[in-house]
Amino acid sequence: MRDSATQRHAFFQGRLVPLEDAKVGVMTHALNYGTGIFEGIRGYWNEQREDIYIFRLRDHFVRFLKNTAILCIDVPFTADELVEITTDLVRMHEYRQDVYVRPLAYKSSEQIGVSFQGVADDLSIVAVPYGNYIEIERPLTVCVSSWRRSDDNAIPGRAKVSGNYVNTALIKNEALVNGYDEGIVLNNQGFVVEGSAENIFLVRDGVLVTPSVADGILEGITRDSIIKLALDELGISTVERAVARTELYYADEIFFTGTGAQLAPVGKVDQRLIGKGEVGPISARLQQLYFDVVKGRNPKYLDWLTPVYAAAPAQRTKVQAS
Ligand code: PMP
Repeated sequence: MRDSATQRHAFFQGRLVPLEDAKVGVMTHALNYGTGIFEGIRGYWNEQREDIYIFRLRDHFVRFLKNTAILCIDVPFTADELVEITTDLVRMHEYRQDVYVRPLAYKSSEQIGVSFQGVADDLSIVAVPYGNYIEIERPLTVCVSSWRRSDDNAIPGRAKVSGNYVNTALIKNEALVNGYDEGIVLNNQGFVVEGSAENIFLVRDGVLVTPSVADGILEGITRDSIIKLALDELGISTVERAVARTELYYADEIFFTGTGAQLAPVGKVDQRLIGKGEVGPISARLQQLYFDVVKGRNPKYLDWLTPVYAAAPAQRTKVQAS
């Protein structure tokens, strides 16, 4: 094994450096004011092909660049260049397991004052081995949080701004200290938004229902994938609309989706059973489909996967079906 494989590295200030050298000062704008944009991306190890397939990598960077623009952060790379940097970073570690990639673009000047004017920007990317973020094999017990999601006109949830995750942390922490696995957050109009860090779907009479993009959600890439898989593979359509709190208690099934959460079924909300309180049949089928797709077992969706080891950087292409 090469040194670069045993020593963890980060992409930081335009180059690959040992992770312990990727440090910022305490006066950094983003550290003080939350002015960063980040992404969460997963790569799945495929034992048979001895490769890591990163799921919808380019789509994550397209979202990332839209979000950095909202915060007036200048990232001097295209989505394709960021794909290249990421695959190089993962490859150099010679990982043979599932990984999580965390790009972060942030306001890097060390100064007092919140304005963006004249403030410099920076970018870091790290890639670390990663397992489940939340249980996916048993139905989760969740609560509706006492915290509300901030308004799109305050701190836009769509933008994956670092500072937003104070709200996420409050929701998640409240749920955990009260003995729940996760919290569901409402917006200021009282409609369901999502889980603390995952989108939410309800199954009602055989149809999927999920809050719309105007309800304060983060426009999840897993959410988008599940909407497509449900329709194309199971013929199940999704209605995107405002969801009232008590619809949660009416639902036949509920599940969360997200890069971290993957597809996590919910068995109870606020002590009320969802369906029979077990993993519902549609949730189970979608979870199976999702894992077949992300792990490269479904040839129809190989376009969503970027292989890390399959091709040399110069000729890297999307995975070929075998
Ligand atoms: N909502 C929030 C608040 C999140 O942090 C995440 C995780 N990125 C999601 C939804 C799910 O998004 P994705 O499927 O793109 O990971």
